[in-house]
Amino acid sequence: MPERRQTLDIVAPFLNEAETAQAFAQLLDRLEAEAARRFGLKTRKILVDDGSNDDSVRRFSQSLAGSWEIVRLSRNFGKEAAVLAGLDRADADLVLIMDADLQHSLDTGMALIAELLADPDIDVVYARNDRREGSWRRSQLARLFYRLINSSQRFDIPENAGDFRIMRGSVARAFTRLRDKRRFNKGLYAWAGFRHRALTYSPAKRGGGTSKWSRWNLIAFSLEGFTSFSVVPLRIVSLCGLALAIAGGLYGVKVFFEVIFFGIAVPGYPSLLMAVVILGGFNLALLGLIGEYVWVALSESKDRPVYIVRDIVGGGADKPEG
Ligand code: UDP
Ligand code: MG
Repeated sequence: MPERRQTLDIVAPFLNEAETAQAFAQLLDRLEAEAARRFGLKTRKILVDDGSNDDSVRRFSQSLAGSWEIVRLSRNFGKEAAVLAGLDRADADLVLIMDADLQHSLDTGMALIAELLADPDIDVVYARNDRREGSWRRSQLARLFYRLINSSQRFDIPENAGDFRIMRGSVARAFTRLRDKRRFNKGLYAWAGFRHRALTYSPAKRGGGTSKWSRWNLIAFSLEGFTSFSVVPLRIVSLCGLALAIAGGLYGVKVFFEVIFFGIAVPGYPSLLMAVVILGGFNLALLGLIGEYVWVALSESKDRPVYIVRDIVGGGADKPEG
């Protein structure tokens, strides 16, 4: 009996990537051909339209060949949600996640597949971004971020590891069981566990269009990482509060002795103002931080779906049902 061919699902979320659509479709074709030739894999492409308002979908539909589908979400839900939407549709033996902006190359994609197939003990191979971009300050900030977020848990969230990765079907299915509403994929991959291996790569320049990350987006996203994976910020603030209280207490004792035993009149106004301002600022910051966590808890308790599918357009051979 002939052995069943292993299957590969390629999941690629996109938002307004009309400029690169054709080139990306060609890249997928080459990947499919090479994966079939080298590893006998049978490929299906699952693209997720994360609420594009240009003609990406039309362009992709015209350019894609073979077995493919485009899951159109009802609006823009963010890349993290779009990746989940794609994984929810995937059911192959291997699942590869790629960006649609040509930053993730054919060669690296093939290398990921080869690495995973070569070692049955590994469940996930992720591409680690070795691009040193941005200022020194920014990279130090990133390092501090990962140090903090990893300081209190049983799993490590690796730096520079994004969604560009290949995993076995069992891993993809496990991942789709994590239905966090405010999603931080890097953390979720780490949380899910399994055996990972890193493969270093340099992302190419965008093939066209623009990156969807602004500085504010990045800051907001980092906060999301913290609030869904770490209590460290809360602990730090509690400790600061405690330290401030102790310092205030000591200062009070000092003033008390000065007045009682040495008759020194304490100049009240500056010290009072200082205490009021420090404590006031500290309280506000703490309130904001607690608010962040409450917001996460609120999103979870509302229990809305992570994304909503508008429809699924598909083409090619063996289009799956549903
Ligand atoms: N993307 C998406 N939804 C979004 C933002 C981005 O599906 O809300 C897609 C985007 O089209 C691309 C991938 O996610 O295929 C990576 O996005 P981008 O290139 O903006 O991120 P960067 O490469 O700069 O980290
Ligand atoms: Mg990109």
